[in-house]
Amino acid sequence: MALAVTSSNSISSSSFALSSSSNDIKVSQIGSFRLVDRAHVASTSLSQRRSLVRPLNAEPKRNDSVVPLAATLATPEVAEKVEGEEDFEQFAKELENASPLEIMDRALEKFGNDIAIAFSGAEDVALIEYAHLTGRPFRVFSLDTGRLNPETYRFFDEVEKHFGIRIEYMFPDAVEVQALVRSKGLFSFYEDGHQECCRVRKVRPLRRALKGLRAWITGQRKDQSPGTRSEIPVVQVDPVFEGLEGGVGSLVKWNPVANVKGNDIWNFLRTMDVPINSLHSQGYISIGCEPCTRPVLPGQHEREGRWWWEDAKAKECGLHKGNIKQEDAAVNGNGNGAGNASEAVADIFNSQNLVTLNRTGMENLARLDHRQEPWLVVLYAPWCQFCQAMEGSYVELADKLAGNGVKVGKFRADGDQKEYAKQKLQLGSFPTILFFPKHSSKPIKYPSERRDVDSLMAFVDALR
Ligand code: SF4
Repeated sequence: MALAVTSSNSISSSSFALSSSSNDIKVSQIGSFRLVDRAHVASTSLSQRRSLVRPLNAEPKRNDSVVPLAATLATPEVAEKVEGEEDFEQFAKELENASPLEIMDRALEKFGNDIAIAFSGAEDVALIEYAHLTGRPFRVFSLDTGRLNPETYRFFDEVEKHFGIRIEYMFPDAVEVQALVRSKGLFSFYEDGHQECCRVRKVRPLRRALKGLRAWITGQRKDQSPGTRSEIPVVQVDPVFEGLEGGVGSLVKWNPVANVKGNDIWNFLRTMDVPINSLHSQGYISIGCEPCTRPVLPGQHEREGRWWWEDAKAKECGLHKGNIKQEDAAVNGNGNGAGNASEAVADIFNSQNLVTLNRTGMENLARLDHRQEPWLVVLYAPWCQFCQAMEGSYVELADKLAGNGVKVGKFRADGDQKEYAKQKLQLGSFPTILFFPKHSSKPIKYPSERRDVDSLMAFVDALR
């Protein structure tokens, strides 16, 4: 099976994997889901199957080497044409309460050989197990950025052996990596943000991979990032990337574990005796590139282990940037702010113990070198769901701090105030929380996504 996994310049090839697991299915029934008899798959002749298989990333003018694939099977189903967004919204509603296994089965059934699992080398190995359990052939691809931990490479190998598959690795374009590293060094992301490096090492290889597909399967979960993943549906028309046919709506994104909690994923992996990345036993939860991933402490959110030096809301590497909502785009200068729509939204953080700062008040506060008391101020937009989500804890915090030597305030920083807040108050996304020390004009930005009372109080107590 010839399979081109290429960059436009210099990457050679990789192998192509479909796993046939029809003969060693571990679970015959989970919940209401029943496995389907797929004996007819095995009866398909190899020549017939070959004619059906499409490379993950077929680019013209290449003569890529081929890694023979013992386990290559083609899907028996002919992939359907991608349907409109409306249909998949409806589909998502129908599947909202379905099990991950059922969702996975529907995805593989619907798209056959034109769908692949995106595997990061972390607990999303659960996706591979679910696919395996369906008994259908499936494909797996992964992005080898060149900066992964050694443990992750070993884990890839273990997964291939455990499931009898070949992972379709996608590599960055060597010329692009070379240009980046030669001009900016190996660790430029610590200086000017991770986007450029991620674009070269992850997003473009992913884009090439997806151009060979009609659908992909991710391990995104709502509980992974309260900032960016809280509303992902189980299936959607991909809002960012294009598929095989090209153009908007040409790719469908399946998120079978969107509604599953992290703990339940781990229980599933343990129960099914699936291999896991040994980094997890060293405190890593979210796993990415070695320089950009670190273990987290008990109680820390898993995404705090990624790009920890950057603003919490910006923690999407570009692979799932469709998660970043319109209001965030507005804050980040890609939109026109809350606009008139925001006028109709009721204000939030209403408490007698909270001081409402207007622009003049905010400027005065920020200008002072010496204050009678330190201040904690939230920069917010009332329409922002993340601000709304922390309203209770912030009001409770204000009540607790009332008369205790710390003033608590709020400054509405959307609309006309957005540019000022971005320029002068470190606004990256809503909400931004600033602590103004008693003897300094320089505010300290709250660095965490944890916005419960105890976490906010710990921040205040550490600085007051
Ligand atoms: Fe580069 Fe870090 Fe992104 Fe990996 S995670 S591609 S090393 S910036």
